[in-house]
Formats: sequence, C-alpha cells, structure tokens
Amino acid sequence: MTSTLETDNNTITVAESMTGTTCPTCGGHHLAPFLTAPDRFHLRTQVYRLMRCDDCNAVWLHDPPIPAQMGEHYTEDYHRAIVTAGEGSAMDRWKGQVEMISRHKAGGDLLDIGCSSGGFLSTMMNPAWSLYGIEMEESTAQRARATTGARVFVGDAMEAPFLPNTFDVITCFDVLEHVYSPRQFLSKVQEWLKPGGIFYAMMPNIDSWEAGLFGTHWFGLELPRHLSHFSPRSLRYLMNELGFEEICVQTPACSYYERSINYVYSSVLKKLGFSATSQAKATPAGFVHKAVRKTFRIALSPLVHIAAFAGAGPCLEVVFKKRTGVEH
Ligand SMILES: [Zn+2]
Repeated sequence: MTSTLETDNNTITVAESMTGTTCPTCGGHHLAPFLTAPDRFHLRTQVYRLMRCDDCNAVWLHDPPIPAQMGEHYTEDYHRAIVTAGEGSAMDRWKGQVEMISRHKAGGDLLDIGCSSGGFLSTMMNPAWSLYGIEMEESTAQRARATTGARVFVGDAMEAPFLPNTFDVITCFDVLEHVYSPRQFLSKVQEWLKPGGIFYAMMPNIDSWEAGLFGTHWFGLELPRHLSHFSPRSLRYLMNELGFEEICVQTPACSYYERSINYVYSSVLKKLGFSATSQAKATPAGFVHKAVRKTFRIALSPLVHIAAFAGAGPCLEVVFKKRTGVEH
C-alpha cells in the first residue's frame, strides 16, 4: 500500500511500509532493529533507526524524512562533494563500468539515472550511443548537457516521460539507495528497458566486512539520505520478484574505509573535547590523520581483495537483463 505526498513541484509516492510493521521488499513480518546512527556527513545529532527483515535480508531507514523535508539533508556541501567525486579523470574513474557495458551491449540508447554533471556519460560519447540522463538539479543537468550532448530530464525519476521499451542500457550508480520505493523505481526501469536490455547498477553493500567493522561509522550508511541498504541477497530477491534475469552480482575490490575512518576520527576528537570538522566542510587531512589512513591502507589491503572475492566487499555491482518476450 502506498500514500502520495504533495511537494512544491511534483508528486512523489512514498512506500508506507517504510514506516510500518512489514518489510517494504517482501512484505514479511520478521523485522528487527539493525542499528541507530546520526548524519555523520553534516555532524548532526538527530539519530536515525535502520530495520532489517529476517526473511529477505532487506535493510531500510525506518520512518524516513518525508520528501518535502529531504531538501535540508541534501545541502550545497553535499552536492559539491558528489559532483567533485564524479569529476576528475572520468576515463580512469569509469574505466571498469565502460568495460562492463561493452561486454553486454555494443551501442544503442543509454539512460544514466542520477547522471550528476555527466562524468560517466562523457565516457560513453561515441556514435554508437545515444545518451540520456536524469538529474535532480537543473544547473548540474545543464553541465551534463553541455559536456556530453545528452538529453537530460530534470526531476524525480518516477516523473520522467520516457516511453516503454526505449533503452538498451540503463545505468544507476549510487542512486538506488536514495529512492523511497526501490520496487516502484525498478518496475519503471524494467518498463523503460527494451526486451533484452540491461540494467547496470552500483551501490553500497550492507553485508560487507566494512559495514560490519565500522558499524554506525560506516560511510555507506549516509543517513538519512540512504533510505535502503542492499546486500547481494536482498537485491537478488527484489530483482527476481520483478522478473529480471541475473547476469552478474559481485563486490569488486573497492573500498570506502578511508572515509569511514574520517568519521571515527571525528567521533574520537569530539569525545576528547575537540571540535571536529564535518566532511561537508572537510579540509586537507593533517599529518596524524594521513599516517592513520596509510597504516589502515597497508594493513587492510589483503582483506579488501579477499572480501571482494567472497562477495563481502563494500560496493555492490550488479547487471540484470529484462527478459526477452516481456513487453510493456
Ligand atoms: Zn523482507
């Protein structure tokens, strides 16, 4: 069951079950508190509660801020951090993703949901591809249009006017965890894909060794902006329910641990009575901080690779296909 909340510019449908007593993914009743944590990016004090479903392994933010309140959690500092992270040497940053797509599709119509300023789309600029994007923020979308030539819709993905069976590839990097109803969102993805088209996504893995090690300080939590927290098991369950065919579910050898260490560092400083600087206002790290990070990097390097191999890496990378014969 869902309810509809009116916002200034559009209508956003929110899953009521995120606040209820059943799992928003499978409808199960075997729920348990998972953890509580504040917004460590902005160093705010309000505490949020995550719930976990014992049946399908889904984890979600209980009683999330409503869409009309969400703007205060997506600050200028947050957008700046996201855009900066997506820029730089795009070819280096997105090399693995470009290779992954080339394994499955040689060209066609590609939609990047949450395209930001077009960092990924810029790596797909060649005559084989027609590029499309969805971005929440107008000035960021303009940068994507200017640098990639992509047609970019501005607003909530659920409002985008694309026709059924339009795209050969839909990509979604670090987006799925932000949406109120992943089930509804992924149904829309399936509708927009051509039969045989692929959905390629990346997101944090709540069942990773880093999430277990850092607990409430894990960078991947990003509360309250991350509303759903996926694992290989819970995502497989959902995609299978929606009728997608699995091509690849893996956890590559990447890591967020340096950013999680920043959160631990801030908490320690606070406990010692010093004022910590939020990552929203972060300045270049000091000598001690750099030394701690370097020590961790060396000590954890073997673990990063073992965890990736075992499916417990912190980043979840998935490719699913829309079954042929499925029309909308
Ligand atoms: Zn469930």
